[in-house]
Amino acid sequence: MKSLKFLNNLRRESRQYAVIGLGRFGRAVCETLHKLGYEVLGTDIDESLVAQVLTDNIVSSAIQLDSTKPNALKEAGIFEFDTAIIAIGNYIEESIITTLNAKEGGVKWVVAKASSEIHGKLLQRVGADLVVFPEYDAGCELAYTLTKPAILEKFDLDPDHSIVEIIVPQEFHGKTIEELNLRNRYKVSVLAIGKEDKFKINPNPQEKLDKNLVMVVIGSNKDIQRLPI
Ligand code: ATP
Repeated sequence: MKSLKFLNNLRRESRQYAVIGLGRFGRAVCETLHKLGYEVLGTDIDESLVAQVLTDNIVSSAIQLDSTKPNALKEAGIFEFDTAIIAIGNYIEESIITTLNAKEGGVKWVVAKASSEIHGKLLQRVGADLVVFPEYDAGCELAYTLTKPAILEKFDLDPDHSIVEIIVPQEFHGKTIEELNLRNRYKVSVLAIGKEDKFKINPNPQEKLDKNLVMVVIGSNKDIQRLPI
């Protein structure tokens, strides 16, 4: 649940983001945050990548710096940001030093990208508040997408449990939650039923399910995978 609490705090408090490292991952983070209307500062040691994010207009501002140098981060005002994303995957030493610098400089939330399990452990040791494994996560996501049921949204609670939004399976159509005995049969609980932005939270067990609606369920990933299409 640590990551859930972390993400909630992050969403509530963060309005400005500093992204350190402008590779494919860092650029994608910049672009999405910028599109969502947040203030994003992009930085990289490579001047051409800094120039590119400005040309592509995917950041609010950008600056060339070496993030292993605490003074460079301080001068760029990065310690004033409430969230820093350390998007350096291949240069492990640089990634760890940068994470340490950001935490020691007082950045409240530091999210760091790891390229391996040991890298992730080291990042946690130096104070990263959230460590992400994009390649691993993308692989898992792809597997979920390719297999049933049709998961529209997925929120990981921990590595084994999640909350997912799925289309009501065909064989559940016209049946009530009680009749389907979902808790005992599939070991999942239905948190909400609805469509787009209109959801009924904690639906009544006597409520009939409709294949045109979506349902939000909580359970283990294994049990969720057992749900029919
Ligand atoms: P991708 O996101 O493309 O998969 P990656 O995670 O493999 O990238 P790296 O190649 O490790 O990322 O580095 C990402 C960026 O971090 C690079 O553009 C690199 O120039 C930058 N970078 C590396 N060291 C530093 C540093 N000391 N200060 C600032 N930026 C750095």
